Amino acid sequence: MLQIELRHQKNGPDLWAPVFVCDWCGKKIERAEEGMYQFWMSVGDAPHDPTLVTTHKIIEGQRAACNHLWEKAYEHEGYLHGWIDMANLMGYLINNLHMDWKKLVEEFAPKAVYNELIPPKKGKPRKTYYEEIGKRI
Ligand SMILES: [Zn+2]
Repeated sequence: MLQIELRHQKNGPDLWAPVFVCDWCGKKIERAEEGMYQFWMSVGDAPHDPTLVTTHKIIEGQRAACNHLWEKAYEHEGYLHGWIDMANLMGYLINNLHMDWKKLVEEFAPKAVYNELIPPKKGKPRKTYYEEIGKRI
């Protein structure tokens, strides 16, 4: 599930950060590669279940298999289990929300990525969205 987390900063304002939490164990999914989203796909004329859950997935020796435990506990007869890596969720959401990829890079990408993807204009120092926000607060 998606939740909001309060992050206190030593030298800056508090941040309210959206985070994914595992619907099985309740712990935060720290990195995209340790998470996935799961759902049930209808078969034939069965009604569609739009529920989407987020879980940890197996990473060698690091986590319990929350994805497998959830799948087993909530199995629907007549439905097929679907799952996709959490990293793909972000790309699908950006496209489904018709968001501007360039604007996202300009506002949220780390400076190194931003500079690599969008060449700087001559003579103009560049600041990321977070650098600008930090100065204004
Ligand atoms: Zn978990």
